[in-house]
Amino acid sequence: MQVLVINSGSSSIKYQLLEPDSGEVVASGQVSRIGEPVAADAPTVEHHSDGQTLEHHGSVPDHAAGLRIVFDLFARGGRDLTTAGLTAVGHRVVHGGEVFYRPTLIDDDVLRSIDELSSLAPLHNPANVTGIESARALLPDVPQVAVFDTAFFHGLPDAAKTYAIDAKVAAAHGIRRYGFHGTSHEYVSEQAARLLGRDPAELNQIVFHLGNGASASAIRGGRAVDTSMGLTPLEGLVMGTRSGDIDPGILLHLARTAGMGIGEIDDLLNRDSGIKGLSGVNDFRELFRLIESGDTAARLAYDVYVHRLRRYLGAYLVELGRVDAITFTAGVGENSPPVRADALAGLEGFGIAVDTERNTAKDRAARYISPAGSEVAVLVVPTDEELAIARAAARLVG
Ligand code: ADP
Repeated sequence: MQVLVINSGSSSIKYQLLEPDSGEVVASGQVSRIGEPVAADAPTVEHHSDGQTLEHHGSVPDHAAGLRIVFDLFARGGRDLTTAGLTAVGHRVVHGGEVFYRPTLIDDDVLRSIDELSSLAPLHNPANVTGIESARALLPDVPQVAVFDTAFFHGLPDAAKTYAIDAKVAAAHGIRRYGFHGTSHEYVSEQAARLLGRDPAELNQIVFHLGNGASASAIRGGRAVDTSMGLTPLEGLVMGTRSGDIDPGILLHLARTAGMGIGEIDDLLNRDSGIKGLSGVNDFRELFRLIESGDTAARLAYDVYVHRLRRYLGAYLVELGRVDAITFTAGVGENSPPVRADALAGLEGFGIAVDTERNTAKDRAARYISPAGSEVAVLVVPTDEELAIARAAARLVG
């Protein structure tokens, strides 16, 4: 049984061919710079399979062309996807709105609905739709399944998902907190329960997904009861290039006094803010190098980032009342011991502690970083959204 998982972005397609039961990744790769002018010898597709890497060079005009090149590279590597008998194609879809809250078999109506949700996710859903259309054209007989980033948060309690604005305006425009990274939060919380040897239904958990985008969630008995991202993936934690929470009055102020337009404010908050806005770099490895060299702006960026993490931690501790596990995942969460240590420093009174040796161990596996016998388990769990999507797709069609 093999599932092809496709994560289609505005100018990229990431993909994996994997076996959902074992989790084995048979092949993987990425198409980059779709629709951009590139030199004829620029590598735009990188395909890994059976220990070898194949590349495609030169421009990729659109997503359909990108996926055709990927299929050609599969064939060159000895795997013809059109005759491979794939169980399903699993598509990551960012916004499911109010409509989709579980993995969904894609037909024309579903595709149209995903497209209609583009107003809520203008950067993401159109790219997801294009990816789905391309895959359907190449594999017309293979079931295509959409797995939504928002789905895990569909059941948020009303008090957690409602913005305190005019209810009529909110209803007319679908304004509520939807949450994102749901596939990761769900997968990681299940893996955390497994590590604890407990049923997720018995556990209260806090998960920090800290990648380029970053979000936190509070999970009671396997169900999300709060999350930091909102109508869009801009709310909440400080991120690589996104501001996270700010006073909405800042937008009004910039429009009124600086004469900034919607597009400029969008760029500012999504691309030129966060760690990058404060320090000039958005990768934590570079940020740490700057901090070590005595760069005060980088230090401040880090302090603001950690301060925001702790603010959400405090809120979720109170919301849950009792916490069994706090788990870090994604690029920064999995690879940055200082972030984990600083986020939880001085909380021994709450039964929360980080063991320095465990925290700094070079270990890729899901593991404890709290001292043995701690009241609250502190964990690092690698996320694997592709595997979660593959399993969800296989379950649905199987
Ligand atoms: P995305 O949101 O793009 O999926 P990832 O979860 O892959 O992001 O996280 C990417 C980020 O993780 C990088 O920008 C970088 O800040 C951070 N990161 C990756 N590796 C390390 C590392 N070894 N040490 C510290 N930070 C890291």
